[in-house]
Amino acid sequence: MIPPSVIKEITRVVGEDNIFVSLEERMCYGYDSTPDAFVPDMVARPGSTEEIQAIVRLANTHLFPIVPRGAGTGLSGGSLPVKNGVVLDLTRMNRILEIDEENLVAVVEPGVVTYAIQQEVERRGLFYPPDPASLKTSTIGGNVAECAGGPRAFKYGVTRDYVIGLEVVTPRGDLVKTGGKTVKSVTGYDLIRLYTGSEGTLGVITRIYLRLIPKPQSIKTMMAVFPQLDDATRTVTLIVRRGIIPVTLELMDDRTIQCVESYRHLGLPLDAGAVLIIEVDGAPELIEAQSGQIMDLCREGGAREVRVAASEQERDDIWAARRAVSAAVVQIKPTKISEDISVPRSQIPNMVRKLREIAERYSLNLVIFGHAGDGNLHPNILCDQRDREEMERVEKAVGELFQAAVELGGALSGEHGIGTMKAPYLKLETGEAGYAVMLALKQALDPNNILNPGKIFRGE
Ligand SMILES: Cc1cc2nc3c(=O)[nH]c(=O)nc-3n(C[C@H](O)[C@H](O)[C@H](O)COP(=O)(O)OP(=O)(O)OC[C@H]3O[C@@H](n4cnc5c(N)ncnc54)[C@H](O)[C@@H]3O)c2cc1C
Repeated sequence: MIPPSVIKEITRVVGEDNIFVSLEERMCYGYDSTPDAFVPDMVARPGSTEEIQAIVRLANTHLFPIVPRGAGTGLSGGSLPVKNGVVLDLTRMNRILEIDEENLVAVVEPGVVTYAIQQEVERRGLFYPPDPASLKTSTIGGNVAECAGGPRAFKYGVTRDYVIGLEVVTPRGDLVKTGGKTVKSVTGYDLIRLYTGSEGTLGVITRIYLRLIPKPQSIKTMMAVFPQLDDATRTVTLIVRRGIIPVTLELMDDRTIQCVESYRHLGLPLDAGAVLIIEVDGAPELIEAQSGQIMDLCREGGAREVRVAASEQERDDIWAARRAVSAAVVQIKPTKISEDISVPRSQIPNMVRKLREIAERYSLNLVIFGHAGDGNLHPNILCDQRDREEMERVEKAVGELFQAAVELGGALSGEHGIGTMKAPYLKLETGEAGYAVMLALKQALDPNNILNPGKIFRGE
């Protein structure tokens, strides 16, 4: 427990209106989008970089943990206060500081909701592509800390591809400024890449410089319906091999389709084995040609139908189906173990077969959806955390699906991060030497283990 005298000092830093100390309030900051929950000793809502520095310095003097938190939508346990301490709620720092149209850069505070940035830049004919499905809730600070991706990553890349500058409060309370508005910079080590995806363990991100690009002229959205899941995954490989780069290539399997349809009634094909949602963008002549090629490849791959959105409403309906997935699948069972493996694109068919085989062997409810074009799948196991016997089977299945992904040359996480959920499996991918390098970095930068302890490294 943090002593009352230290709580008083933190209160002096942020002001009485910006702390939470009652149990009810603290409980509201003890969860994220994973099934776990913890209770922090206190919640502080800083309004400036200087206030964050002051709190971090107090943490080094009195040795308490600090857990940076955006909107708490994380899917790997990153913002859970597993060792109690202070949750640092960054949502008060929510200003878009500048949209520099000459340099194509947005300068923002970490607590801005990502969708607000997108709307602001699109009003000026510009574009910030990363689009996690949580974009209307999650913060840009959380997106940078997790290196969030989204459907558009196939063509446009993930958050790290757009971060060109950062200001970060270090675990000792100093302020690091790295990068800025310059497009090119090779000054020393690439600290931007180090902090992007560091899950709140190496610093508190207080300012972000985002690269913008011109908004695409037009968009065409299609939904290809396949009798079998295998046909859909093979079609992904066909499209990639042909060298076509659509904006998105999203996969939903039969169970996902059925859950979404019963949840939203959007007219999805209930007898399909899988659908692919494919979008192309660019100049109108280009997207006509590309969508024609893609439709041909879908038919060659076994699609029984390719629906093309004829209006903005039809496009919205297709995306509403994809965005409803997370909420829809919990109709099967109350607990959702949401995984995020990533494999080389050519291995998608093998990975999907392996996933189904593991789920069958452990008699588990599995739905598969995700960013198939990137090789990033979200196998979700639907279970009930009150059923201990079932949870034991889930744990074994999760271990096997990670093992299978690594054996196929893949990664434990494509975009959700390691947090607490995947910490036990980290070495499967990094090996002892890779793990030791990562831990050495953490220990060198945060010798008192102040920032987000218990994340990424099991037991640290
Ligand atoms: C329905 C749903 C759909 C989702 N879809 C996607 C998707 O398509 N793609 C995807 O990548 N993710 C997705 N996610 C996961 C999640 O939304 C992302 O990881 C998002 O980036 C988290 O942002 P947040 O503001 O909620 O951060 P939080 O969950 O609050 O925190 C996430 C991590 O970032 C750290 N952190 C937060 N802010 C800072 C900061 N300023 N400085 C340092 N560290 C910080 C925290 O300590 C924690 O480790 C989804 C989640 C949900 C619930």
